[in-house]
Amino acid sequence: MMLEATPAGRWSHCAVPQCSGVQLPGPDRACLAHCAEPTRRRALAAMSRGRPVDFVRGVPVHEELLDEILQLAPRDGMGGPLLTSATFTRATFPGEADFSGVTFRGATSFTGASFSSDASFAGTLFTGQADFGWTTFWAGADFTRAVFLQQFATTRATFLGPVDFSECVFGAEASFFRAMFGAVPDFTDAEFRGSAFFFRAEFPSRPRLPGVRFRTPPVWS
Ligand SMILES: [Zn+2]
Repeated sequence: MMLEATPAGRWSHCAVPQCSGVQLPGPDRACLAHCAEPTRRRALAAMSRGRPVDFVRGVPVHEELLDEILQLAPRDGMGGPLLTSATFTRATFPGEADFSGVTFRGATSFTGASFSSDASFAGTLFTGQADFGWTTFWAGADFTRAVFLQQFATTRATFLGPVDFSECVFGAEASFFRAMFGAVPDFTDAEFRGSAFFFRAEFPSRPRLPGVRFRTPPVWS
């Protein structure tokens, strides 16, 4: 079996040079960020009807585009945006990425995604697996009060700014295997209902864990 060093983007790339966004059906053979208006509207309309968010792989998602996606998304029970099977694999976020209050239904992937500015996942709900493997956060990452009902993984992720996991609920296994933190993450009052793997994660110093509840002792080595 071949093991990949990084997750590859196996999809038809956008016709715009250097863009690895997934190609949308249409004459312009471009991604969501570079396609013609009717193509974009068609993709977002399908999402509004509850279709999986699979059209953002490798796409440069600037702030306005993210706003548009979240505004047109179906609503969850609390009135927040509901994204189904969101696959932001290798997407890039050149500006701020505000996912606060979003419900992610089904398995969600930010594998290999890159956030150039602050990213907020405050108050989010992930009903399926949440994969942040190989994700790079160049600035802050705010996961305050996020709830992960299934596995949460940040395998080999890089966090260069402040990271906040305070009051998070990790409903199943939480893995920080080989994640690299430039600043000590805040886990104040977080709850780990499954196993917590900090094995081979790199921190400037081991995080203090005030008020953190573990069902089983965390694994550090
Ligand atoms: Zn493109």
